[in-house]
Amino acid sequence: MTAPARTDRGSEELIRAEEPVLAHNYHPLPVVVARAEGAWVEDVEGRRYLDMLAGYSALNFGHRHPALIEAAHRQLDRLTLTSRAFHNDRLAGFAERLAALTGTDMVLPMNTGAEAVESGIKVARKWAYDVKGVPADRATIVVAADNFHGRTTTIVSFSTDETARCGFGPFTPGFRIVPYNDLAALEAAVDETTAAVLIEPIQGEAGVLIPDDGYLAGVRELTRRKGCLFVADEIQSGLGRTGHTLAVEHESVVPDVVLLGKALGGGIVPVSAVVGSREVLGVLHPGEHGSTFGGNPLAAAVGTAVVELLETGEFQRRAAELGAVLREGLAGLVGRGVVGFRARGLWAGVDVDPALGSGREISERLMREGILVKDTHGSTIRLAPPLTVTAEELAGALGTLEKVLTS
Ligand SMILES: *Cc1c(COP(=O)(O)O)cnc(C)c1O
Repeated sequence: MTAPARTDRGSEELIRAEEPVLAHNYHPLPVVVARAEGAWVEDVEGRRYLDMLAGYSALNFGHRHPALIEAAHRQLDRLTLTSRAFHNDRLAGFAERLAALTGTDMVLPMNTGAEAVESGIKVARKWAYDVKGVPADRATIVVAADNFHGRTTTIVSFSTDETARCGFGPFTPGFRIVPYNDLAALEAAVDETTAAVLIEPIQGEAGVLIPDDGYLAGVRELTRRKGCLFVADEIQSGLGRTGHTLAVEHESVVPDVVLLGKALGGGIVPVSAVVGSREVLGVLHPGEHGSTFGGNPLAAAVGTAVVELLETGEFQRRAAELGAVLREGLAGLVGRGVVGFRARGLWAGVDVDPALGSGREISERLMREGILVKDTHGSTIRLAPPLTVTAEELAGALGTLEKVLTS
């Protein structure tokens, strides 16, 4: 972070300038970021903040990781887009390495997380008709309450968040919602029409809700026994965040289909993917699904560099080791402003005593102290620093949290 930020307007002026021209679908914290490196960001005025959100896990490798930036630069100088009308020389290698990393056969490259979820739904339905033999247009997909899978009309059709849904109907039919972490409810909802069970291995937006030990293995056993697919949305939980490449590895579970996004693009470009067995992804034929930008050479080059970082195991190891520091620090705050927390790897949902303020207010106070986090619901804040964060930086952030909660 050497050259000064190049803008002629200050933070407050830029925030005011957004109001009349930018759709109001977000309520960001009042910080205007101008540059970043590693776990640190700098605002227009040159104030520095430790990024403890990491783009909702899109920045697992930190801001501008040198290997990812280099891969992007090299690719920008050579080839950026072909569309899938032609082959490009980066896609085969990306798909091979991503399949190997996730222990599966095939990859369907897309761009955003929501597109990966949409694609996973289409693949599951097609599999139900072509392979399972569900009568036409009768396929169902069982999902969990309090899920977050994205923002398209089909995806909000099975959201239980009224703010996300209200005013956007009519909705796509074919979804059944059961309580999360409840195998009996799942058992009752799955029948001969069921194409798939679609869940997050850890519910991120809901407040980093971690299911009981045995739930994911139970979902695997149930879906296998009942003859439907297990689709795991690892868009936020995956790619190192929890101390493993995939969060389902905590229970040694292998889903039929895994949805990836966020960190797969290295914080540089949107890259998502549906990965799964040949039996499932093989149901797609030319013309049945696609994306102009999906699998583009720039995305494939960055995605390949992301896979290379994960192949070393270093980031998964850091998440596991530093996760212990995070858990210990949070445990010391229970009863001192924190009423409870859930954590796995470098990912925590922290329930702050509502008497101390809303999650939003706590986030603003942390911002003024140089720590960027975001609330989820009510008085819960989510901590998800880049996996490159150091133990000292993490300790500093926990110290600041303690100060904000106890002063
Ligand atoms: C962020 C997220 C999505 C949607 O990803 P976008 O890139 O924002 O469309 C889907 N599922 C989960 C679990 C997510 O965290």
